[in-house]
Amino acid sequence: MPEETVRGEISTHHGSCFCGAGEATASEEPAAMGYCHCESCRHWSAGPVNAFTLWKPDAVRITKGAGNVGSFAKTPKSIRKWCKTCGGHVLTEHPGMGLTDVYAAILPKIAFKPGRHVFYEESVLRIPDGLPKQKDVPKELGGSGVTLRE
Ligand SMILES: [Zn+2]
Ligand SMILES: [Zn+2]
Repeated sequence: MPEETVRGEISTHHGSCFCGAGEATASEEPAAMGYCHCESCRHWSAGPVNAFTLWKPDAVRITKGAGNVGSFAKTPKSIRKWCKTCGGHVLTEHPGMGLTDVYAAILPKIAFKPGRHVFYEESVLRIPDGLPKQKDVPKELGGSGVTLRE
């Protein structure tokens, strides 16, 4: 269990759902960070864009309230998990990509360094911040790799 180690080599990021009944940790550094504009993320999060931090599944643990976490998969690509008490989001597993998204909003202390926007084709809120705007996702994650204008 890599909580903060004695030598401090593993950094552990702590997050919780809206009410605090569910807690999760993510260890070391995320594989990617950025913003997702896809319709599913917008609908699920009730916001115009979702800030994501993606981790190897092994790096993520639900450390409190695991029995109180609901799970819903609209498609096999995304298994979305939330707290049954408050409805607050905890994480989304992406088995096809082999990555787990711990929404940046539930990791308040992480140094969020977005690298790109994904599914910009579905955007309802253009964000001209100079970061790459991918039509869907990068090639290495099974996408087209196509970049769009801001
Ligand atoms: Zn909760
Ligand atoms: Zn999305």
